[in-house]
Amino acid sequence: MFKKILIANRGEIALRIQRACREMGVKAVVVYSEADREAKYVKLAEEAVCIGPAASAQSYLSMPAIISAAEVTDAEAIHPGYGFLSENADFAERVEKSGFQFIGPTPESIRIMGDKVSAKQAMIKAGVPCVPGSEGELPDDPAQIRRIAKSVGYPVIIKAAGGGGGRGMRVVHTEAALIHAVQTTKAEAGAAFGNPAVYMEKFLQNPRHIEIQVLADQHRNAVYLGERDCSMQRRHQKVIEEAPAPGIPRKLIEKIGERCVAACKRIGYRGAGTFEFLYEKGEFYFIEMNTRVQVEHPVTEFITGVDIVKTQIMVAAGEKLPFTQRQIVIHGHALECRINAEDPFKFTPSPGRITMWHAPGGPGVRVDSHVYTNYFVPPHYDSMIGKIIVHGDTREQAIARMRTALAEMVVEGINTNVPLHRELMVDAKFMEGGTNIHYLEHWLADHKR
Ligand code: ADP
Repeated sequence: MFKKILIANRGEIALRIQRACREMGVKAVVVYSEADREAKYVKLAEEAVCIGPAASAQSYLSMPAIISAAEVTDAEAIHPGYGFLSENADFAERVEKSGFQFIGPTPESIRIMGDKVSAKQAMIKAGVPCVPGSEGELPDDPAQIRRIAKSVGYPVIIKAAGGGGGRGMRVVHTEAALIHAVQTTKAEAGAAFGNPAVYMEKFLQNPRHIEIQVLADQHRNAVYLGERDCSMQRRHQKVIEEAPAPGIPRKLIEKIGERCVAACKRIGYRGAGTFEFLYEKGEFYFIEMNTRVQVEHPVTEFITGVDIVKTQIMVAAGEKLPFTQRQIVIHGHALECRINAEDPFKFTPSPGRITMWHAPGGPGVRVDSHVYTNYFVPPHYDSMIGKIIVHGDTREQAIARMRTALAEMVVEGINTNVPLHRELMVDAKFMEGGTNIHYLEHWLADHKR
């Protein structure tokens, strides 16, 4: 096992990784920008290195700053968390070339999965069902593009091969709008992602977002840890996640989970990963793979009892997965509400000083957050300041626990979306379960204030 790990991230995930290291008896070095000096994980750290000013480009996204921090502190491995450099194949490569272990998949795996066209091709080869669409990148010839759209069937969605974060996508309903949409998306993709390649998919009208968590070691063992339902989204950003997904037959989950595991083995995947699917009318359609730990990993930890972050560290150190698929048993139901520093209904960011922070507790309640009373939420980063995760024997019990937790949650001095979560936890359709990816946007439009 490693003696020392450097955590190349900030916020709640930096604290989460630090906690995993402590439990494993591994020393953790944290890095921080000048704006994060006061964060909880920095105060709790045995060793902390300031890597630059507030701007991410000069701190959390600076590869030389992070690698030098690992060098001066004698760390052996680097955990990238999520966001920032976590899915940057060049970073993973530089980490390994500098003699450190990257806690994540190989740079090649990250590269294949980072390009949505090559990811889709790899999945088709591995027998994972994908959204029907173009075979790879769209050609330049308008007549050929029209022919492809006709065979896929309108509406179609044009997506950038290098896209991410819900950007670089355009829905097309008619042939008249097709060529212009392709050209605009190509131009935008070139400017935003440095790669003008685009591809086409059938636009699914009312799907749910269902994802499969996998873990793989370096000895060709891989397992899936069930699914998560992340359909409650606003602007393609997840707001509430849960596991298991309400109303999907276990047999279907097992079938798709086994396909994901087979795909991992085929591509020599190692570490934690997530296969994201759209689910409509009983069918799964792969859209992309995330090659890192995800924000919503705790709901899976609750229902399986597996510590995903500790397992990431173990397999990076070369150890075997400590469980087989048969030992993964799903227990009860878990929900996660992301707590953002923002206006709950207008969504304007609300950074600033937290004058009172009181986190809920009790059986089956977990709060992952790096903030505390008198902490100043810096304006430079993502607005998420924490997560409330609950576990119950049933979905109803989990919802009841989340309501209690949200009622206890006190944040003063800044605005948060806690009031929005409180309303969603008593919404009849949400309580029924199985809402699609448009539900929250429609709900917000109906509850304008
Ligand atoms: P990103 O990497 O930017 O998150 P994804 O490919 O994961 O892009 O897609 C993000 C979201 O866009 C999905 O969760 C879904 O809401 C929507 N989406 C993507 N592809 C389709 C499709 N073929 N049909 C309908 N919606 C889609």
